Amino acid sequence: MPAIDGDRLLRDLHDLREIGQYKTGVHRPTFSRQDVEARHWLAYRLAEAGLDAAIDGIGNVYGRDRAPGRKLLTGSHLETQNHAGWLDGALGVIYGLETARVLGHGIDVAAWCDEEGHFGSFLGSRSFCGLLGEAEIDACANRETGVPLRDALDRSGFADRPRRKIETARYRGYLEAHIEQGAELEERHLRLGIVTAIVGSRRFRIAFTGEQNHAGTTRMAARKDAGVALVRLVAAIEDRFPALAGPRTVWTTGDIRLHPGAPSVVPGRAELIFQFRDTDPAVLDALEAALDELVADAARGPCGVAVVQRSSTAPSAMAPGPQRALRDAAQRLAPGQHQAMPSGAGHDAQILAQVLPSAMLFVPSIGGISHHYAENTRDEDIVLGCQVFTEAAASLLSGR
Ligand SMILES: [Zn+2]
Repeated sequence: MPAIDGDRLLRDLHDLREIGQYKTGVHRPTFSRQDVEARHWLAYRLAEAGLDAAIDGIGNVYGRDRAPGRKLLTGSHLETQNHAGWLDGALGVIYGLETARVLGHGIDVAAWCDEEGHFGSFLGSRSFCGLLGEAEIDACANRETGVPLRDALDRSGFADRPRRKIETARYRGYLEAHIEQGAELEERHLRLGIVTAIVGSRRFRIAFTGEQNHAGTTRMAARKDAGVALVRLVAAIEDRFPALAGPRTVWTTGDIRLHPGAPSVVPGRAELIFQFRDTDPAVLDALEAALDELVADAARGPCGVAVVQRSSTAPSAMAPGPQRALRDAAQRLAPGQHQAMPSGAGHDAQILAQVLPSAMLFVPSIGGISHHYAENTRDEDIVLGCQVFTEAAASLLSGR
């Protein structure tokens, strides 16, 4: 089996890290100057590797193998969360590049645009899979600055390019490597994770309507305090959900807003953003039903309450064949140091899995830290992961 070049792999990752470097991490939000530079940097590297390199009309970067025959598609993403880590996304893209170089043919590489959701939800991979319409692109805007996606594409120089669509017959499947972004592998002294499924998530914006009034003169009994109603719901969720949860179910109140949010004013309005995740649709359904009941209970108090927005992604099972190829390679190269595990984070593989047999490989995150500039993985683990990835890719290409 051909050996990867570990020094070349690490050099590429460190070169990419310099584009938008922030402390020991990277600040490279989608379509920032640094992000666009990273896309051109990758296109150059892919061309240098002999691939047909291009950036399309949604900002996806592709390296296509020119030889005939069926391919394996590999990839991940280049942009980062704000002031985040250097390996989230970059690792999987550079694994694809290194695998293409080592195997010589059979590998296409992609960097999917905006996996991190600065403008929308999985825009690049959904565009490629034919799951993103023009109307949605029209409606997307940067979640912080409000800059429309169309303007950002235009400024980046990608607006007039066609969006590339998948030719499913071209591919045997899709493989994506990623850092674990959790601490499980490290805690178990393991070096590789083979992903069985990517969790589905359901997200809710819940609004409480009370009565804004003076915090000094409004007697307690007369209050309709939207903030208190909100906190009671959060507490009720914490009481109720554990009985319905599976071993890896997670739920999070990620944001709370009180209006007007002043020290001497009883909040008249309050909003929270809440989500939960699991790989089992039945668990997700049970949690959603429980949430609806708790919201109905809350509405019997002094304040009005309503779920004002719901969205969801379905859990996504990884395909058995590519999982087996990863597991066999892991067992050859690191016997007993790998495990099957679900992914608690979302990844482009959950989109590609809708159209191609797909699987994911995890390498450990030191201290389980990610979406932070301290994010890191040991060099030995980065190199081992790439060798496993390349061997699994070779075995899938050979049809074994
Ligand atoms: Zn990522």
